[in-house]
Formats: sequence, C-alpha cells, structure tokens
Amino acid sequence: MQRRDFLAGSTLGLAAGTLAAAEVARPQNLRAQGPAGGRRVMFHCHTFPAQGTSFAAGSDAGPLPGSPEHLAAFSRELGFDRAVALSPFEVPLGRCTSRVDEGTDGAAWLSERAEAFGERLIRFASLDPTRPESASRLEKLAGRGFAGVKFHPVICRFSLDADRDEHFYGTLERLGLPLLIHTGVFSGYGQWPLESYHPLLIDRIAGKYPKIPIIMAHCGGAAFCRDVLAVVQSHDRAYFDLTHTLDPKYAWYIPRADYEFIFERVGTGRVLYGVDYPWYSREDCERDLKTLDSLGIRGRDLDRLLGENFLGLTEASSG
Ligand SMILES: [Zn+2]
Repeated sequence: MQRRDFLAGSTLGLAAGTLAAAEVARPQNLRAQGPAGGRRVMFHCHTFPAQGTSFAAGSDAGPLPGSPEHLAAFSRELGFDRAVALSPFEVPLGRCTSRVDEGTDGAAWLSERAEAFGERLIRFASLDPTRPESASRLEKLAGRGFAGVKFHPVICRFSLDADRDEHFYGTLERLGLPLLIHTGVFSGYGQWPLESYHPLLIDRIAGKYPKIPIIMAHCGGAAFCRDVLAVVQSHDRAYFDLTHTLDPKYAWYIPRADYEFIFERVGTGRVLYGVDYPWYSREDCERDLKTLDSLGIRGRDLDRLLGENFLGLTEASSG
C-alpha cells in the first residue's frame, strides 16, 4: 500500500505531497506509533470551574468535565500522554462557559488544580494583551511553568494590534512562548467585529515578532481558511490548529477540498490536531482519526499532528 507523506508539501506548490515508499498503514490506534513517534499531546483543552448546570456530574459523580482532574483522566483514557490545558477566560458571566469572574486569577486557579498532575498537563494562560498588567503577569506565569498563551479576541472583546500591544508581544517573543489565537468566525455570545480578529492582523504580528510561534485555532474555519493559509505560507513560525474543523457538526468545519489543498501546499510539519475539550468525546476522536486517515494522514504525518509538532515548537522555544 502506498502512503502519501505530506511533509514535503511546499509553499510554492512544487514537489507538494510527494509519494513516499510503500509502507503498510498501521491501524488507527493512538498507541500504534512509528519508531520516531510516540509522544501524544491532546492540544487545545479548556479548563474551568463548574458553571451552573453545564457539564453536570453524572450518576457516578466523578470529576466534572472541564476540570483539570477530568482532563488528566480523559486524555489518558484516549491514549494521549499529555494535554494542553488553557486557563479559563477572565470575563463577565454570559460570555462563555470556560470562564472565571473578572478580577479572579484564572491562571492561578489552573495552576493550583493542575499541580497534582505535573508534566501531564501543559499549562497555557488565557490573557488579554490590552490589560496594562498583562505583560508583567505573563513574565511571572512563564517563571511558574506556563508554556504558552491563548488569545480569544471575541470572548475577551479586544482587537489584535501588533503596534498598540508591543510591550506584550515583545515580552512574549523574548520569553519564546507560543501564542494560540482563535481565528474562526465566532458569532455566539454577542457580535464582535470581524476586523478585530481577521487573520491579516496575525500577519502583522508575525511580521513584527517573527520569533513568536503563532498557532491559529480552527484554521480560520471555512470562511477564513485561505487567509490563514496565506499567513502560514508567509511566516515560518505560523501553525494551523485543526480544532473542531474536521466534521460538519462543528461551526468551523472546513470542506475536504480545502484540506486537500492546504496539506498539499504546506505539508504536515506545521499542523496541530486539537480538540476543544471538554466539547469532545471518544467518538469525536475516533471519527477525526478516520477523517485524517482518509486524507492520507498516517504514520509519521499522524505523529506530527498528534504531538510531535507541538512538542517540537515548545522544545525549540525553550532551547
Ligand atoms: Zn477553544
């Protein structure tokens, strides 16, 4: 059976998607790993304190989905060695589920709850760069082991601005931490202008701060995926995050033809598989892996998406 190795994908479209030597496809089991692979990271997981009836406890009353305790157990159950836990957004009630009250330190909450799980939970701080204390806060969080930052311009109601927030971006670049930015059209919880978070604003950030690894969550969804592709093609440190894009049930579903085009152009070296836990199930995991398999993403390509690319960029940052 021939296997397509996408690593050779070229931003010029030349030599894209070269056909590798025959290799027997391994079963689509997370534990079926290639010789160089094996490190599985469940990327893009939200954590937050219990919110009313959301994710109410089941009859067995185990840890609630969304809690670091549940995330550690759930990710292990699905065969992931580690998980990337995003701290709750510090926004008013009604803005989203993954939140704590403004004035509450969401990053401190995550640290306290995740401590027992050591390196199994990789912490990212959800921050708003427009808040005056954010740069100094970031510095302290990095010292306490936070491995990256998450931006959600819609939930947190800010615009991406490479110039206005230069102190924050300069600090992030100096610390060498990756930045995960929401990019799909987000119309829940009230309208927020598209021009506040359009991928072209990320092009400005990546151009001004070329050492920051920037991961674009949801690949921009169907509406912006070509714009996100343009950013990835223009900047070596820009990455796709496939979170909630592989199935039509998701708001940011990207049609198959677009995916085939994207993988052909950029390969799999800068693509991360993410899940938007706790909005994710074992069935979602199995279905997504089947979809990736049908796109020809197997073996080494799958290893890259499921952990190697993420670990590569964070290890490079800390090196
Ligand atoms: Zn998310």
